[in-house]
Amino acid sequence: MRFPTASVTCGEEACDEMARMAVMTKSVHLIDRLPEVRGRYSVAYDLSKVTWFRVGGPAEVLFRPADAEDLKVFLARKPADVSVTVIGVGSNLLVRDGGVRGVVVRLGRAFAEITVEGIEITAGAGALDLNVAKVALDAGLTDLEFLSGIPGTIGGALRMNAGAYGREVKDVLVEARVLDASGLEHNLTTDDLGFTYRRSSIPEDWIFVAARLKGRLGASTEIARRMREIQDARETTQPTRIATGGSTFKNPQGEAAWEAIDRAGCRGLRLGGAMVSEKHCNFLVNTGEATAADLEGLGEEVRRRVREVTGVSLEWEIRRIGVPGPRTGPGNGDG
Ligand SMILES: Cc1cc2nc3c(=O)[nH]c(=O)nc-3n(C[C@H](O)[C@H](O)[C@H](O)COP(=O)(O)OP(=O)(O)OC[C@H]3O[C@@H](n4cnc5c(N)ncnc54)[C@H](O)[C@@H]3O)c2cc1C
Repeated sequence: MRFPTASVTCGEEACDEMARMAVMTKSVHLIDRLPEVRGRYSVAYDLSKVTWFRVGGPAEVLFRPADAEDLKVFLARKPADVSVTVIGVGSNLLVRDGGVRGVVVRLGRAFAEITVEGIEITAGAGALDLNVAKVALDAGLTDLEFLSGIPGTIGGALRMNAGAYGREVKDVLVEARVLDASGLEHNLTTDDLGFTYRRSSIPEDWIFVAARLKGRLGASTEIARRMREIQDARETTQPTRIATGGSTFKNPQGEAAWEAIDRAGCRGLRLGGAMVSEKHCNFLVNTGEATAADLEGLGEEVRRRVREVTGVSLEWEIRRIGVPGPRTGPGNGDG
């Protein structure tokens, strides 16, 4: 198919349509090069639908594997030059407006199984942290309550060494099942994963498929009380029912990030549709019409002001992925 050259003038809508078709055409070429799988490919999938910030451009191709075997086949057979990015439920992601090139992998229901054996829980990487905490409660297992306050998946929790209220994933992990970039499976222990504050050190293109976590026997009433306490604390201190990505920056040595941001006078600061939350100033929020560029630009402005006023260099905790640019058109949104 041929497209008009750049010298052809067009109205804004026609130009948008051409940009969209260009992305679609490129994606069709990419999809033609991808291996046959049992799962589902979607071309130009609108990622703003699956991220907490509700912003971001399309994935060139979104792949939802049927199961771990399907994912292995995909990784083993995909062309080497095709980049792969895995996402969970997008609660720690800022997808840029130009979208993500290559294939974005999203783990669905087949990866959400949770089983209990003794004091251990095995959870698929697509299982929600909250559901793992609920299963632990039903099984009378304590130590996993903190997961009830983290709105991501087990895969995202492993990558981020997610934590809250004094516990992190590294404290409760026995073993993680992970696929390397060529689809080979590895069973890794906590030591192998090189956990530090909000990160694990395994290669960025490795994909967690499951985790074995351990709890301790506890009283269900006490576990339930702790989970309620966590829920209440979040309602009181964090913006809820609004598009946000949680804590924007890691806590620097010796001070909470929100305190440094507050000291720099950034509470309530706005850029386009993006705003520093009034309630918790380490949270950025999309007030409705923000672009990813607004949110990232505001974050960078906060970093600049904090450095200027306090001398502290804030480091992004939120993962920013994709390419900048105008939104390259709506995805097909088929699921
Ligand atoms: C309101 C709110 C409150 C939050 N509170 C907390 C908190 O208290 N503590 C905390 O730690 N975090 C918190 N977060 C951040 C976020 O929930 C966690 O980082 C969570 O672990 C991200 O999981 P996810 O599935 O959403 O991953 P995503 O945001 O989709 O991805 C995050 C990173 O994980 C990688 N990833 C996702 N799945 C996999 C996989 N299967 N294999 C390999 N890599 C993978 C992605 O590539 C990306 O780099 C909060 C977020 C929000 C919106």
